[in-house]
Amino acid sequence: MDVFGFAHFPFVHGALKYVDSLDFKLDELFYDKVFEKVRERGKERVLQAIGEGILKPELTDRISAEKELLSYPVARILVSCINDGYLIRKYAFSEAEAAYGMAKKLPDSHVKEIAGDLGMAIEMSERSYIVHFTDYIRYASALHDIEWKLINSKIISGWVYLSKEKFSRILEEAIKKRIESGLPVEVPEEICEALGTFTEEIRSSLSARKSEFSIGEFKEIMPDCFPPCMAHALTNAQTGVNLAHSLRFALTSFLLNIGMDAEGIIGLFRVSPDFDEERTRYQVMHIRGSTGTVYKSPSCATMITYGNCFGKERLCERVSHPLGYYRKKAWILKKGKTTGSPDGAEKS
Ligand code: SF4
Repeated sequence: MDVFGFAHFPFVHGALKYVDSLDFKLDELFYDKVFEKVRERGKERVLQAIGEGILKPELTDRISAEKELLSYPVARILVSCINDGYLIRKYAFSEAEAAYGMAKKLPDSHVKEIAGDLGMAIEMSERSYIVHFTDYIRYASALHDIEWKLINSKIISGWVYLSKEKFSRILEEAIKKRIESGLPVEVPEEICEALGTFTEEIRSSLSARKSEFSIGEFKEIMPDCFPPCMAHALTNAQTGVNLAHSLRFALTSFLLNIGMDAEGIIGLFRVSPDFDEERTRYQVMHIRGSTGTVYKSPSCATMITYGNCFGKERLCERVSHPLGYYRKKAWILKKGKTTGSPDGAEKS
C-alpha cells in the first residue's frame, strides 16, 4: 500500500511506519504553523464523526494524502484529551464506517493486506472471502441481525465463506475494535492545552449531540416512571451502545405503548453508532403496526428469558410487566403529590 492507501487506512501498521519515516518531530504536529491545516483537518475529522460521519476528501497528490494521513493522529489526540466514552465509541465507529466504504472498492490483494494487519487469516476463492470461524465469531458477535448467526453461514472445516460485502462488514468491526481499544492514548497536558480551542469546539458539539434527543423533551411521557430495564436500555441507546435486537424491540415497543411518537423514537436511536435511518424507520413502523399488528412490549418473564431484565428493584416484585411498573410508579408519584408524602411511597 502507498501513501494514498495509508491516508484512507491510517490505522494499519504500515501507515505508522510511513509517518515515522517523515522528517519531523511529533511535537511539531501540535505546535508548528506548518501543520495548521493538518490540525484543522484532525478537528474536522472528530466533528464529522460526532455528526453525520467522516467524509473522505479527494486526494490529488502526495501532499494532500500526507495531510489526510497526519490528521489521523491529531484526531486521536483530540479524542484522548477529551476522554469521553461516548465520543471514543462514536469516533471509532465513524472511522471504521468510512474505511468500510473505501474497503468495498479496494482490489482483493489490498483487502487481504488490511485483514492480515488486523490479525485475521483469510483466504480467497473466486467468489468468496474465507475467514476462520474464530475471527468470524470475534467480530460478528457485535452484529445482532439473524443473518450473522454462525448457523446461517456457509462453513466448511472451520472456515466461513462470505461475500465481499459481508466480509467488508466484518472488517469494519475489526477496524472499530482496533481503534476503540487504542483509545484514549496518554497525552501530555501541555499538548491538550495547546489544542484547547479545538477541544472546546468539539466538547460543545458533543454536548449538543448528546442532549439532542434527551428524554426530557418528550413531555407526554414520564421519564421518572421508567422501569429499570427500560431506563438502562434508553441510556445505552443514547450513549451509543449497540442494543441486542430483542432489547431494541422491547424498548421501541415500550416507548410506543406509553405514547411516544415514531419520529421521537427514530430520533432517539439516531445517536446509536450503527444508526441506519431507513432500517430503524422500518422497524419502528413495523412494531407500531404498519402491518396491522400492534405489538405490545414484552412481559418481565420474556425480558428475563432474553437476559434483558436489568436493575430489578422492589417495585418490580409487584408487577409482571414493564408497562405495569410504569403505570404503578406513575400512580405512586401522583398519590405522593396529592398526599404530600415525600417519596409517594405506599404503606405496606
Ligand atoms: S422485573 Fe420487569 S420491570 Fe423490573 S427490571 Fe425486570 S423486566 Fe423490567
